[in-house]
Amino acid sequence: MAIERTFSMIKPDATARNLTGAITQMLEEAGLRVVASKRVWMSKRQAEAFYAVHKDRPFFQELTEFMSSGPTVVQVLEGENAIARNREIMGATNPAEAAEGTIRKKFAKSIGENSVHGSDAPETAAEEIAFWFAGCEIVG
Ligand code: UDP
Repeated sequence: MAIERTFSMIKPDATARNLTGAITQMLEEAGLRVVASKRVWMSKRQAEAFYAVHKDRPFFQELTEFMSSGPTVVQVLEGENAIARNREIMGATNPAEAAEGTIRKKFAKSIGENSVHGSDAPETAAEEIAFWFAGCEIVG
């Protein structure tokens, strides 16, 4: 299996409840290594740029307002099959549908305020990492 990198965010609903450590521990226990991490309070404009793929969806305004409402922890995770592994440990978008033992099952408040983000494919992982991190900030 290939060693991959993926992009992860601990969203404002989770930082507000002081869950950065608990979520990071679940990621590490799933075999993922945090090779970059920083806390940011993104602007509405940054949230709109980051989520541009969803700009025509009905939840775009709500999502970008939520993502700019408080601090987020942006991270690069590394490990075997990291993209799929992270999606697995995150759980389904809607916490009501998330499997037992997943981050969203344990912590998400709603389909919008769902505690974590994770890239869904190699192309988006590369784009999202480059959006938030310079190469010199990633220490594998
Ligand atoms: N979202 C929302 N309402 C919806 C679907 C999604 O507010 O009906 C938000 C939610 O925060 C989600 C994000 O938009 O995590 C991106 O949606 P996507 O379908 O890419 O889900 P994810 O990849 O995060 O599971």
